[in-house]
Amino acid sequence: MLDTVLTVDTTEARVDADLSRRWRDRRLATDVVYLDNAAAGRSSRAVLEATTAHLHREAEVGAYAAAQEARPLIDRGRADLGVLLGRRAADIAYVESASAAIRALLDAWPAAAGGRVLATPGEYGPNLDLFRAHGLVPALIPVADDLGHADVDAFTRLLDADPPGLVHLCAIGSHRGVVQPVHALVRACRERGVPVVVDAAQALGHVDAAYDADAVYATGRKWLAGPRGVGFLALRPDRAGRLRADPVAPGSAMTGADATAAGRLESREAFVGGRVGFAVAVREHLEAGPATVRAALRDVGRHARERLAGVGGWGVVEGVEEPSATTTLTPPAGWSDDEVDRARDELRTRHRVVVTYAGPERAPAEAVRATLRVSPHLDTTEEDLDVLAAALDAVTGGSRSTR
Ligand SMILES: *Cc1c(COP(=O)(O)O)cnc(C)c1O
Repeated sequence: MLDTVLTVDTTEARVDADLSRRWRDRRLATDVVYLDNAAAGRSSRAVLEATTAHLHREAEVGAYAAAQEARPLIDRGRADLGVLLGRRAADIAYVESASAAIRALLDAWPAAAGGRVLATPGEYGPNLDLFRAHGLVPALIPVADDLGHADVDAFTRLLDADPPGLVHLCAIGSHRGVVQPVHALVRACRERGVPVVVDAAQALGHVDAAYDADAVYATGRKWLAGPRGVGFLALRPDRAGRLRADPVAPGSAMTGADATAAGRLESREAFVGGRVGFAVAVREHLEAGPATVRAALRDVGRHARERLAGVGGWGVVEGVEEPSATTTLTPPAGWSDDEVDRARDELRTRHRVVVTYAGPERAPAEAVRATLRVSPHLDTTEEDLDVLAAALDAVTGGSRSTR
């Protein structure tokens, strides 16, 4: 099992009719309509079992001995993640979250200190705060439309006219299911030698995240449905060589990557059981076929947008054909952000539908008001969308009568 060499499908395969059923069968039954995978996916039974088995082992033989035993599986997970990202296992460092990854990178990378960082208006708000805390001044990449897709030509001209110290690309934002043309943007940076980093927190397991950037990072808990508390940072070795000699987390005892720059950034004290579970989640994803999953998620997104547009006075932000599963809904005319927040609560408590309240702070340079973020996964059915639609109708109707 550990030695299995995987070949990953690269064609956008036709959606397997069984894919949805298999995704559901591998998970615990739920009595909610779970449409919040962009926050955290529901882990499979195998992921839960691997994680808890490791916790038991820690109690039986001691945490450090258990970590030694788990090393082959964790290294397999690192190698599988490398397959998914198009990177070497040794260039991937495990950390606790996407935020921990970008913080570790900016702390360790002198090239990223000071100067301008170019980002799309949809950049994740907390990242903008982090840039400023590192002395970076955010500047905006021009966009091609109202949805905030980056304008690749205008971006390229900007790189030539006034190259920034760093480009940071949020592949899919936290506030909207818009997919940025990251491959083209990265190519423009690489051709000009401009350092480029990609936030793949919403892209991993959702769209093709094999970006040729200097660094890519994400968390495993969202579209890959890994355990919470496990994220990673993947570095190109030529850039990683210029990291500060003073490492953030000196030599982890558990990794096979101690000698590399990425290995030096790996967090030493960690949720090891989570890394074990994450290895299982990544393997499940590779076995399902990343391209097949991506195509299926695009279909799920299209269905959701078609079904939900206009229901109860809510509007769909994304174009129907946007190649992602994430759909965001603007509230009926005149609603405040607080009312959207209350709608999210009511959907959960009265209708048992779980979605995200996406406040404008998630993308302060782009979002002007709050939306509901609906993020279905492979197990989402037409009936689930019908339940949400009926619930949105009810929430709007209830609000009208109390206004
Ligand atoms: C969730 C998210 C993050 C932060 O991830 P954490 O693992 O919670 O730190 C960063 N960027 C985007 C686009 C996200 O959706």
